[in-house]
Amino acid sequence: MFVGSIFIATNLSVQNVIARTNITTRNDIAGTNQSGAATTAATSNNTLTSNATSIEKLNVVTSVSPITNIVKNVGGEKITLTGLIPEGVNSHTFELVPSDVVKVNDADLVIIDGLGLEVNVKDVVDQTQNTNPDLQILKLGDNSITPDQYVFDFSFPEEAGDPNPHLWLNVLYAMKFANLTRDKLVEMDSTNEDYYTENTNRYIAKLEQLDEGIMKAVQTVPEENRKLLTFHDSWAYFAPRYGMVVIGAIQPSDFGQPTPREVANLIDQIKAENVPVIFGSEVFPTEVVDQIANEANVRMVGTLSDDDLPGDPGDSQNSYVGMMLENMKNMLVPLGGNVIALSNIDPADTFSSG
Ligand SMILES: [Zn+2]
Repeated sequence: MFVGSIFIATNLSVQNVIARTNITTRNDIAGTNQSGAATTAATSNNTLTSNATSIEKLNVVTSVSPITNIVKNVGGEKITLTGLIPEGVNSHTFELVPSDVVKVNDADLVIIDGLGLEVNVKDVVDQTQNTNPDLQILKLGDNSITPDQYVFDFSFPEEAGDPNPHLWLNVLYAMKFANLTRDKLVEMDSTNEDYYTENTNRYIAKLEQLDEGIMKAVQTVPEENRKLLTFHDSWAYFAPRYGMVVIGAIQPSDFGQPTPREVANLIDQIKAENVPVIFGSEVFPTEVVDQIANEANVRMVGTLSDDDLPGDPGDSQNSYVGMMLENMKNMLVPLGGNVIALSNIDPADTFSSG
């Protein structure tokens, strides 16, 4: 079962306070859509594998690292996988260089979050489809929630049109992403149906373990501390799943800096909410978070990540699961909890090598 948008607004009386997450939903849009060409069998490019049998693999291009890693755990060794958005790069404003455009042109399938996150990738796919109608696109986010479940808030205001896109920080949506990926790969490459299905089953079992572990770990945080005030507004779908409340985000919708007045309001709010720690972001280092933490006399933790995987490629923790484990350590321990419930979870990828 997927949780809907159950959000608790903060009880601040000041209007227009930056930190208040104004959660609204909208019901005025038709259901989800998944653009893309008709469902044809895989007409894969001439992507040759390194082994002598030269089996043609589906050429799959993805956007942010967590999605790349989820797709990897489903497609494993039967797809050629290229992630476009480098680690540490702002995925919200990412622009493709010419070599990225070539990667999209050569792809059979492009998998993105959607929900307005990777607009530049989507534009290149649209252009490519004019000359290559076989290129397919799978928007995981758009196919996981309906518009009535969209979350709009300070950093992603409804008037700008695009909801908060960070679905994957709620592990249930990561499972949904894996299932959607499996369905698409099976549709395009049915020869490997069993392989994709078995990989997905194994991976979902790990994600269930992760989901349950996070649930338990959050319970170790004193109830009055289960509040998140972050610079980058990534936790809108995580919080309601795991019993936390996003009391605010600092980053304006243009990804700039808040005004002095907004900063002052945030400081007041932190004092009123009595939170022990506020959270910065590695991708968006900014002095303003330190300044707010100093003036509100709370700790600042700057290591939460929504799309940067920990470690280096090849490390077992360089995975979506590894990122979530790292996030939980960096989030829950400073809030007064522990991550013992997560200590037995192996972050390593689970796809089969055969
Ligand atoms: Zn983000």
